Amino acid sequence: MKMKKDRLSYFRNKLVEKQRQLVEEVGKSAIYAQGPEDDSIKDLGDQANNAYNREFLFELGNGDRRLLKEVVSALRKIEDGSFGICERCGEPIAEKRLEALPFARYCIDCQRLVEKEEATTG
Ligand SMILES: [Zn+2]
Repeated sequence: MKMKKDRLSYFRNKLVEKQRQLVEEVGKSAIYAQGPEDDSIKDLGDQANNAYNREFLFELGNGDRRLLKEVVSALRKIEDGSFGICERCGEPIAEKRLEALPFARYCIDCQRLVEKEEATTG
């Protein structure tokens, strides 16, 4: 089942906004790690708009990095048409869940399983 275009653009807007916030936060800490420069925040923002810059994401060094990656990957899914589909079971993710977590990779059932596995494998 494909998501309607207006729903997709709704989620895209949410994701872009989330991405912007994260880039600001994560970008700041990255700048502090490298030494502050006035233009850097703006540059980082531009780089993140070109969001597939893996090296940029890779260099970021705090807990938001993972979240930012998920946001970027969700945006990519919107591009390729797989947004809203659980990566594990291939079923649609409930829109209510996407509403709260537009970057969710799994449906709620699989999420629980994945978390369980992560807890056991460490
Ligand atoms: Zn699933």
